[in-house]
Amino acid sequence: MNAINHNTKISWMVAMANLYGLKADVTNPLRGCTPLGKGCLNCWAADVAARRACQSNPKVQERYGGLTAKNLNGNSVFNGSSKVLKRDFKRISGKPRAWFHNSEGDTWFEQHYRNDIDELIGRAALRPNDIHVFLTKRFEEMSDYFVCLPDRIYEWDCHSILDSWDGKPLSNFLLGVSVWDQKSADAARPFMQKLAKLGWRVWVSYEPALDQVDWTGWEFLSWLVTGCHSATQPLPHERDWERAARDFCQANNIPFFDKQIIIKGKKIHIPKLDNITWDQVPEMSQKSLPENEQ
Ligand code: SF4
Repeated sequence: MNAINHNTKISWMVAMANLYGLKADVTNPLRGCTPLGKGCLNCWAADVAARRACQSNPKVQERYGGLTAKNLNGNSVFNGSSKVLKRDFKRISGKPRAWFHNSEGDTWFEQHYRNDIDELIGRAALRPNDIHVFLTKRFEEMSDYFVCLPDRIYEWDCHSILDSWDGKPLSNFLLGVSVWDQKSADAARPFMQKLAKLGWRVWVSYEPALDQVDWTGWEFLSWLVTGCHSATQPLPHERDWERAARDFCQANNIPFFDKQIIIKGKKIHIPKLDNITWDQVPEMSQKSLPENEQ
């Protein structure tokens, strides 16, 4: 089979898409965010938005303009504005793909309208042959959203786009949370566990890993991805933090993906850890895909 021409370089998305013979892609209909703490230091998405907002192309300006400001250190940060680009919803179409939704923001950012989140989730739910990956730092909002969904889905503004989904767990969705230290992990765990108990597949992005985490209690995970910070200014980082995450995953049969480390200012993608490359991805169940659909 020819190599697939993916629409993203995010290594864990590419690895998952390759395994299932799908094209990896991203959507960004819900734009804007606001930093939530240490885990948002050096927000890559804000940096991208600030740079692209300066481009002369009016379509690019429309997508990225007005979303960022400079902080006291001169870094770009999201300024709390939100916008929705309706036409980006329509990208969720065509042949089956592995999607990372709102890769340049946070779907559960408080300023996004729930109707717009509904439209994103509904359009994803309509596509059982895709894989749909979500990632948030707003674990409470995401958890509440999916816990309440079966009770309110029939009142959705956009419910006409769905025939029969009752808002219950879908096996081709992966709901993720970003954590960066013990405190953030402890705060997120009960909410993610609640989703897992309902039957949703949940995962963790431990990136940027800023301190060691004791993962006891996270046995319900379907995937754990880790990566050290990629800031230009070095932040403390110890390889033992990844070892602890890997050992926990191995002991509990959870796929483990080690995304990156920085050595002497240079980023190493999918590095070896104790002489082994850790690029495991979860088993997903889409409906069976016809041959050559990607
Ligand atoms: S939640 Fe994500 S997108 Fe939002 S500011 Fe933090 S790192 Fe950036």
